[in-house]
Amino acid sequence: MSARRPKVLVIGGGFGGLFCARRLGNVDVDVTLLDRAACHVFQPLLYQCATGTLSIGQISRSLREELADRDNVQTLLGEAIRLDPDARTVTARRPDETEYTLDYDYLVIAAGMRQSYFGHEEFAAWAPGMKTLDDALSIRRRVFAAFEIAETLPPGPERDGWLTFVVSGGGPTGVELAGQIRELATRALANEFHAIEPEEARVLLFDGGDRVLKSFAPKMAHRAGRTLEALGVELHFGVHVTDVRRDGVTVRPKGGGPDEEYAARTVLWTAGVEAVPFAKHAAKMLGADTDRSGRITVGPDLSVSGHPDVFVIGDLAGRDGLPGVAENAMQGGLHVAACIRRDLGMRGRKDFRYRDLGSAAYISRGHALLQAGPVKLTGKLGWLGWGFIHIAFLTGVQNRVSTVATWMATIARANRTDRTFILGGSGHPEEPYTWESPVHQGNHSTDDGQNA
Ligand SMILES: Cc1cc2nc3c(=O)[nH]c(=O)nc-3n(C[C@H](O)[C@H](O)[C@H](O)COP(=O)(O)OP(=O)(O)OC[C@H]3O[C@@H](n4cnc5c(N)ncnc54)[C@H](O)[C@@H]3O)c2cc1C
Repeated sequence: MSARRPKVLVIGGGFGGLFCARRLGNVDVDVTLLDRAACHVFQPLLYQCATGTLSIGQISRSLREELADRDNVQTLLGEAIRLDPDARTVTARRPDETEYTLDYDYLVIAAGMRQSYFGHEEFAAWAPGMKTLDDALSIRRRVFAAFEIAETLPPGPERDGWLTFVVSGGGPTGVELAGQIRELATRALANEFHAIEPEEARVLLFDGGDRVLKSFAPKMAHRAGRTLEALGVELHFGVHVTDVRRDGVTVRPKGGGPDEEYAARTVLWTAGVEAVPFAKHAAKMLGADTDRSGRITVGPDLSVSGHPDVFVIGDLAGRDGLPGVAENAMQGGLHVAACIRRDLGMRGRKDFRYRDLGSAAYISRGHALLQAGPVKLTGKLGWLGWGFIHIAFLTGVQNRVSTVATWMATIARANRTDRTFILGGSGHPEEPYTWESPVHQGNHSTDDGQNA
């Protein structure tokens, strides 16, 4: 390494990348934090944004603003697309498709995971996942538009399809979404429609296991299942969703038996995750092993074998016992910052030891699970603990204050303040107002000049 200040390039401004960059803020290095979205997203509350409780501004913060007081940290917008470990460079793509190159002395890959459709990418057109702000807004658009479209239809199978919501995957995200849609239907929307009864909206949750929330103690998970059922969520276990179409899904029992068809115009996918595309490329260039989901195998200090200058942290770090949770990413970010400091001070690196501080999952109003070592809370106590933890880790004081205020208002009144959705715009085939047959897509106009 030369006598100039070492350059640290961090790819990804999620929990891992942000905590690493922050911690390096007072170290004698130059840090570049590269993110394709330029903001930090608090993913655990994405579902509240998707279902109209919180705004995107409340669960995210500009990385530039977040790191404004760290003079040695520069934030850049761009998607890492190529890595050359010999030249120690990363090529990034701007949103306008042009490219630029960054060099590094240390590289920290913290680019996270994306939704996996288990090889069925075609499902994505009809069943959005939930990993980004775009996903949350897309789900919000579909959920609220479904009720609106149902209101315009006469009673019958077509209307029923719009009032049926399918959630694939019974992990925390699937459970949160399913519960929130039922709560929305039975509280916020209950008295606002004239033709439909929103309370009659069906929410079907499909999972291959035998219970929801498998990462929690079985007793707690079963209790969560009962709470969901009391809310009206229909739970289907031991099944795989094998096809997703514009108007429904096919479900196959794992134990054998005939396929089942369900008509539903809104399908949400939370069933699996896989490494982001850059991680696959990086693993290849580094000659690193990956697991089935594309996580990059790392050594005890979180660096890649044969590349002590390259670290992988957070969801992407492949090592036994490291869970895909925010706490692992944050601790990994702090650990890597400490490794770099120790290198600069010519001291040996320490191994990363993940400290499990517990996990929490929201079920419905007044019900959440909180599991931390011997402490296992459910119901209202779990709910309070869940709220406290989420506020503590939300980025930005302003976001914390406004989120608490919004929650209080939502508890007091059934209302959801962030229901606004915009019409189309992304070109995605499944945007609202493009749920039309291909023959109508494009700019066909009716006689009165409005789009058909
Ligand atoms: C809906 C949902 C709910 C969750 N709930 C909880 C919870 O309650 N508790 C909990 O502990 N965990 C929860 N998690 C998991 C937790 O959010 C993740 O474990 C955590 O975000 C991982 O942090 P990370 O830094 O590894 O990646 P991420 O936070 O995913 O950040 C990755 C960053 O990399 C950027 N990026 C990706 N590719 C590139 C590229 N090629 N170039 C540049 N930038 C790139 C992305 O824009 C993003 O900012 C939840 C996750 C989701 C999706």
